[in-house]
Amino acid sequence: MARTPKIGTVVKWLGHTEARTRLASAAAAGRAAHAYLISGPEGIGKGAVAIEFARVLLCDIAKETPCGKCPQCLALRSLQHPDLHLIAPSGSPKDSDTPGSETYPAEMTRLKELLSADPYVEADLAELSASTGKSAKRKLSTGSKIRVADSRQLLYDAYRKPFQARQSVFVILNADQMLREAQNALLKLLEEPPVSATLLLTASNLQAILPTVRSRCQPVKLQGYTPVEIRRALSDAGIEARATELSAALSGGNVRRAIRFATMQAETLEQAAVEFLATSAVMAPEKVQEHVDGLLEDPDFVDDAFFELLMLFLSDAAHCAAQTKIEPHFPSQSARVSKLSAAYPRADFQQAIAAVDRAASQRAAGYTPTLVLTAMAIELHRALGPRARA
Ligand SMILES: [Zn+2]
Repeated sequence: MARTPKIGTVVKWLGHTEARTRLASAAAAGRAAHAYLISGPEGIGKGAVAIEFARVLLCDIAKETPCGKCPQCLALRSLQHPDLHLIAPSGSPKDSDTPGSETYPAEMTRLKELLSADPYVEADLAELSASTGKSAKRKLSTGSKIRVADSRQLLYDAYRKPFQARQSVFVILNADQMLREAQNALLKLLEEPPVSATLLLTASNLQAILPTVRSRCQPVKLQGYTPVEIRRALSDAGIEARATELSAALSGGNVRRAIRFATMQAETLEQAAVEFLATSAVMAPEKVQEHVDGLLEDPDFVDDAFFELLMLFLSDAAHCAAQTKIEPHFPSQSARVSKLSAAYPRADFQQAIAAVDRAASQRAAGYTPTLVLTAMAIELHRALGPRARA
């Protein structure tokens, strides 16, 4: 049964202490730059860092942390502050020359609500519109962009006096989705910075930002979260230990991905992976087929996570068989793993891992899941070798 991810699960978690301290002390010393480009891998809270910094900049009395009590801080609780401007991708490049905030006013309000509870949510207005069911076209957001109309609106607002705070802040979420013309339009602002506005851009793909824009922003490079940090984030969010362990291992350092696994019952997927391995090992063709069909019917089945899980599990088995002292990905499953390596004494786990890796690439290349999973089962069978006699 698919569970809907609970918004607000990872509310307070940020990490990136060094970068955040550097930003906050620049603000406290009144030396904040006019524009920052916050970059790093996906799902690590670039938007969270930007929004936190915006709170510091807008607070009436903040030194390094927002006071939480002034009128600005109060309005910022829900991010509905007239001097905080959010810009996010919103629909196809062909759309009109209306900025996203005007095309999707309700979604912008909703995005602010979501972000104020959980700054890790995906910021895409068209996607939000599709997911709230207002639009029949669920795939609407493919290729969502920030358009020149958004830049024009931004310029207009940035040269105006702030409404109630000392300054205004413009946060461009996913700035790597800005169309070229939109970025060019932004250049004027970067070359002649308004006196009382700060621009914060976030981007996973720096190559998508024009060099002329990049060179005029102060760079803030964030690193991906470590597995330990992800585990801490999930357990702080009240996710139980086993789901935390699994989701952290599958997350690839991406908090959003970790939350997705934590909320979609990673354990069900794990169970499926272990069973798949067992079925492949004994290799009764009709059983494999039945198992593959069963898997694909499960709404929680996510194939990239499934392959990843299998690989991690097999890599634990390889270390166990070789008796290395490397810490396993799934410490709580040590007994299960050692049972597997004892049952297949002639197993070539590296070959098994390579088989899963190959299957993952074939899947990514568009081969049908049935074909890929069946072929993988045969290869796993070969790699594991004969079962030890009891
Ligand atoms: Zn304040």
